[in-house]
Amino acid sequence: MSEKIVVIGEARDGELRNVTFEAIAAAKQIQSDGEIVGVLCGKENLEQQAQEMIYYGANRVVTVAHDNLETYTPEGYGQAVLAVIEAESPGGIVMGHTSIGKDLTPKLASKLGSGLVSDAVEIQTDGDEVTFIRPIYSGKAFEKKVITSGLTFVTIRPNNIAMSERDESRTGEVTAKEVDITDLRTVIKDVIRKASEGVDLSEANVIVAGGRGVKSADGFKPLYELADALGGAVGASRGACDADYCDYSLQIGQTGKVVTPDLYIAVGISGAIQHLAGMSNSKVIVAINKDAESNIFNVADYGIVGDLFEIIPLLIEEVKQLK
Ligand SMILES: Cc1cc2nc3c(=O)[nH]c(=O)nc-3n(C[C@H](O)[C@H](O)[C@H](O)COP(=O)(O)OP(=O)(O)OC[C@H]3O[C@@H](n4cnc5c(N)ncnc54)[C@H](O)[C@@H]3O)c2cc1C
Repeated sequence: MSEKIVVIGEARDGELRNVTFEAIAAAKQIQSDGEIVGVLCGKENLEQQAQEMIYYGANRVVTVAHDNLETYTPEGYGQAVLAVIEAESPGGIVMGHTSIGKDLTPKLASKLGSGLVSDAVEIQTDGDEVTFIRPIYSGKAFEKKVITSGLTFVTIRPNNIAMSERDESRTGEVTAKEVDITDLRTVIKDVIRKASEGVDLSEANVIVAGGRGVKSADGFKPLYELADALGGAVGASRGACDADYCDYSLQIGQTGKVVTPDLYIAVGISGAIQHLAGMSNSKVIVAINKDAESNIFNVADYGIVGDLFEIIPLLIEEVKQLK
């Protein structure tokens, strides 16, 4: 493999997502002494974001600014990133396994005639051999993959690979590359956000998730309070979304978001297999349920059997006292 790895950065509301820094750390694991080249796309003002990539370990960054890159489209970003990859000829490419990463990387892999290891949660190295570990069967098992030829093209699941310390003394070159972004088949006219502001669910270190047991949209309010006190985000089961207690953008599971926070608090959630598919790899799981036989306790590290409406206010009080 050549010494160079391209890391495709991703921003949200003008700020780089943490998974970009995790991707830089992953690139370092794959090729500890190789050159890490960041790529950033957007409409304008990418210099600050490029600096951040350098502070987190990129050796240099190539930016592509164009009016047609204001919001993500597979054709627009595809053209921009491909132009950089073709100019750089890297041995590896790393990106976050985010909605954009899931959409963009297979397209790039097909254009480059390359394979792709998606959704890696761990990277192991033994001499020159790099092994990627990824969950399969909805997180019930893990497979190990080794790339034997061609590009090392990989997406990494957010929140699994520790990013390096931010270091403002790191320096590196930022180059702007001109790419003509043409023939877009789709043009984004406007973006209307459904999800509320605050911590991004897929990158949150702490998630307080509510289920049908929460019983109403009002019942979710204390969950927001607890999540706020813990610096985390609120998630939900599909049962709660179907019942209209919260928005579908909060849904965790097989047909929702896949999350791996340090702490997952499941509140009034029974633990259906489709829900577990989205959260069972969380580092510590706490379940609060009034039914001691509930399946959620089979994956929980800590279980509280009782009425959530009594337990959540007590937890909020305790957490606030710790501050
Ligand atoms: C194809 C398919 C895809 C699906 N995808 C998803 C998915 O992505 N995510 C997902 O979550 N589900 C998904 N589901 C739905 C899934 O099968 C379950 O129906 C759903 O997860 C149940 O949600 P729940 O646990 O909130 O509700 P329930 O199963 O109704 O559980 C509610 C729980 O709350 C507890 N409870 C009630 N009152 C209290 C109280 N006062 N205090 C404490 N505990 C209380 C109860 O004991 C119960 O365990 C999918 C289903 C299908 C068929």
